Amino acid sequence: MTLLNRHLKLNFPGLIGIWLGLGMLLTSTLAMGHGGNGYVVKLHFKDFKKGLSTVQSMGLDLAGINIKEKLVEIITDDLDQIELLRKNGLEFEMTSNFGRMEPTVDSEFKSPEEIDVIFAKFAKDFPEITTLESVGKSIEGRDIWALKISDNPTEEEADEPAVLFNAMHHAREIITPEVIIDIAEQLLNGYDDDEEVQKWVNRNQIYLVPQVNPDGSNKVWNGNKMWRKNARGGFGVDLNRNYPYQWGACSGSSGFKWSQTYRGPEAASEPETKTMMSLVGRVLPVFDISYHSYSELVIYPYGCEDEFPENKELVVGVAETLASKLVTDDGSGTYTPGTGWELLYSVDGDDASWMYQDYRTIAFVVEVNSTSTGFHPPWSMRDETVEKQRPGWKYLLDRLETSSIRGYLDAAEIGEKVTDARVTVESLGDNEFKDTFLVKADGSFHAVVDPGMYEVTIKVPGQDDVVKEITVGGDRVELQL
Ligand SMILES: [Zn+2]
Repeated sequence: MTLLNRHLKLNFPGLIGIWLGLGMLLTSTLAMGHGGNGYVVKLHFKDFKKGLSTVQSMGLDLAGINIKEKLVEIITDDLDQIELLRKNGLEFEMTSNFGRMEPTVDSEFKSPEEIDVIFAKFAKDFPEITTLESVGKSIEGRDIWALKISDNPTEEEADEPAVLFNAMHHAREIITPEVIIDIAEQLLNGYDDDEEVQKWVNRNQIYLVPQVNPDGSNKVWNGNKMWRKNARGGFGVDLNRNYPYQWGACSGSSGFKWSQTYRGPEAASEPETKTMMSLVGRVLPVFDISYHSYSELVIYPYGCEDEFPENKELVVGVAETLASKLVTDDGSGTYTPGTGWELLYSVDGDDASWMYQDYRTIAFVVEVNSTSTGFHPPWSMRDETVEKQRPGWKYLLDRLETSSIRGYLDAAEIGEKVTDARVTVESLGDNEFKDTFLVKADGSFHAVVDPGMYEVTIKVPGQDDVVKEITVGGDRVELQL
């Protein structure tokens, strides 16, 4: 019988004194990296926000939340940590002494190698509309694959915006690659007969990265089922705290390497982070969804407290619509939109904030599934889960067809300095919108806007500015310059 099993058989309130010493022992076991298979403890906080921020400041491993029930789930093997919350003056109830232990990984889910095989088969079966590229390698040398789906997939087509859907920054979130597999299946199998799918594939360049963190997933499949981070040094770095924008800036990550939110020794220190950065920098996605689990949230930039995206009205509008398309597991409502700091607490070094800040990619974290499933749902829930995600990613593909500006400069004539060009789009109407966009090597730029009148100013170094006034209605406007 392990210590943990004995914990479960005893009554919680009487335990604290007796187990104080053992708690220390267990804490050090966790710190040595043998843990990660802890118990999910359900805490109902009287003051939900305060409870969450204390959980974060204590460096506890937050698994997920349920806003409606004011429920916070943490993973721990250590009773002392729970007692410390009380000592911090927080009032909460525990649903049970120790909540459920997460079940073993349902073997129907896919190991990193099995996911690689699935994507190789997609590329082999649909050569006309796919390319499969290893966009980089993990710290242990595993390939990070990106499947591009588009007509003429080997070409960069200047009139086709890029969209990115990625999964598994966090290893234990095993449902998330399944969402990406489903997106691929829907687009590839639907291409011959479904006009809607044809339009999306022919008019966009859709990039799918099923697993950003294959090394972490390998750990999950080799017994460490609650592993979150990558494989750096046995302790791991939280890849979604390692991006350069506001890296370590607002107590939204940890500098302690055994913490579940360890940000790494420097910004973008990890090869997996660098891989995603180079892909994003090359294709400049207009939209991104980074799939995580769980909590039924749609999180948009920025991660640090009190910060909103520059064009808040637009970004929040897209986020709210996206969230309204995603029905919760129990069918009682839809996902909740917000910034990380509004919904949870400050987060720094996350991918969505970085993408929006550096490239104006309108990027979201979608937290798939609820506290009823946790990180390791049964495979029997897989189909229902991925089906419930379809209206979300389809909405973003549809949104690209509606009010937005797709422009392209003559890259051949301008030459190399085309990527130094900047395009400013400013509203001439009631809605507040002004933003500056980068130009890709193929001369293209893309601005998602609400319908209205806009002034578009193109600045190319060494050339006179070009100013155009355009009206954007319900469709994607093409602007050849
Ligand atoms: Zn996650």
